[in-house]
Amino acid sequence: MKDLTCIVCPRGCRLHVDDDMNVTGNFCPRGAQYAISELTNPVRTITTSIRVTNRPYTLVSVKTTNPIPKQKIFDVMKEIDKIAVEAPVRIGQIVKTNILGLDSDIVITKNID
Ligand code: SF4
Repeated sequence: MKDLTCIVCPRGCRLHVDDDMNVTGNFCPRGAQYAISELTNPVRTITTSIRVTNRPYTLVSVKTTNPIPKQKIFDVMKEIDKIAVEAPVRIGQIVKTNILGLDSDIVITKNID
């Protein structure tokens, strides 16, 4: 048995999953999907920053385009740490495709002129 909070929307339902993976406490079906996924293959979207080489002390925010398996987060962070860009950069600009073969790109989330 496991209790967790659904993070799919701001309502934040308290979910209960029994030993047979039956989910209760969810206001909508997305909560059940979230609970099962969280217990069988937890994933997270990574948001972080990378260096802008031609702007002193400047970072630009980036994120993964698809959620990453939780156990791969540190490996992905190490790869992201190797990436640097030159301004100007634009929201939506891809700076790394298919990172570590995980079917997720790394994309800029802030404009810098
Ligand atoms: S179960 Fe549905 S309503 Fe409740 S927090 Fe999750 S997504 Fe929102």
